Amino acid sequence: MHLSTEQRDILRNKLQQRRTQMVADLRDESISEDGTLAVRSHRGETDDEAVIESMDAVEIASTARDATELAAIDSALQRLDTPDFGVCIDCGADIPSARLMAEPTVLRCTACQQRFEHQHHTPGGARL
Ligand SMILES: [Zn+2]
Repeated sequence: MHLSTEQRDILRNKLQQRRTQMVADLRDESISEDGTLAVRSHRGETDDEAVIESMDAVEIASTARDATELAAIDSALQRLDTPDFGVCIDCGADIPSARLMAEPTVLRCTACQQRFEHQHHTPGGARL
C-alpha cells in the first residue's frame, strides 16, 4: 500500500460520488419498481420491428455498461482499505497515484492495461 490516508479518502469520495451519480442516472432510466436493473423497451414508440430491435440493443448495451461500471466502483470501494488496492493485478507493481486519482477503478498499471486492451480488443464492440 503506497497511498496515504488522505489519498485514500479522496479516492473514496470520488468513488462514492460517482456511485451516487450513476445510481441516480440508472434509477431514472432503467431501474424498475422492484429495484432491479431493467432495460426499457422502445416497443410502442414505433411499429418498425427492426428499429425497435436496434434501439433496444443500444439500451441493453448501455445498461450493461453502466452495471459493469457500478460493479467496478463497488469493487474498488471494497478494496480501498485492503493492501491490494492500487497494486497492479497483473504485475504487482504500485499503480501511480496520479493514475488512480484520474481513474479510481483501474486495476492495472499503464503498461499492463495497454497489454490487456491489446489482447482483449474486440473490434466494433462497446463503442456506442
Ligand atoms: Zn502491471
